[in-house]
Amino acid sequence: MRTVRSSFALCALIGALMAGAHAAPLVVLDPGHNPANGGATSIRGTKEVTYNDRFVSELAPALRHAGWRVEITRQPGDAIGLVERAELADRLQATLFLSIHHDSAQPRYLVAVEAEGLPGYRTVKPTEGYSLFVSRENPQYSKSYRLATLLGRELRQLGRLPALHHAEDIPGENRPLLDRSLGIYEYDRLAVLRHGKAPAVLLEVGVITDRRDEAYVDDPGNRARMIRKIVRAFQRYLEESRDDDGRLDVCSGT
Ligand SMILES: [Zn+2]
Repeated sequence: MRTVRSSFALCALIGALMAGAHAAPLVVLDPGHNPANGGATSIRGTKEVTYNDRFVSELAPALRHAGWRVEITRQPGDAIGLVERAELADRLQATLFLSIHHDSAQPRYLVAVEAEGLPGYRTVKPTEGYSLFVSRENPQYSKSYRLATLLGRELRQLGRLPALHHAEDIPGENRPLLDRSLGIYEYDRLAVLRHGKAPAVLLEVGVITDRRDEAYVDDPGNRARMIRKIVRAFQRYLEESRDDDGRLDVCSGT
């Protein structure tokens, strides 16, 4: 019993020293678009920026609870440019950068609808699922891709499939699929991914012009489940990074 208490005290001491030596990792969350230019219009007539802001407002506290420091590029109501988002992450020396978006489809697959007096758009065929984008022009491409892989694996565990419509050979799409089963696309020129120094991923949470997928992402329980999976992926990323650095987890098992 005495040995257990001693080792616990030792771990607590080492943990405190390590916490001092290594500040908590910082993730910069980036809710896509701006109030004046709000991105896609959903089947409910709601602008994408509203979905992005809501998702980030729920993801941020979950990450903080898991031990991450969290900064957000843009508060609801504020505007910021694309390059400035990446530059902000660099100034803050972000460990990771995650841009949050909600998806639509090309105009040829959309029809105008009206939802409680608001003009919206609906897909003419089922277009559901999440998708992940990484840029080879990001200086930490392999780490970006690793984070996207972990995110894809976790999100797949929800029984949710990736959206594959961005790979279709039509103008506006034609994105190279790096991993079809996990929904990871290459999008080299994407400003928020290529201008920063931190590993960066853009997540399209769901397709808000698809009736079923919009209902999925609008459900608070589904959002909580997705957020738990995203936090898990971030934690896995950190565990792997620590292994890469050769640092020992001296307190495992206590
Ligand atoms: Zn968007």
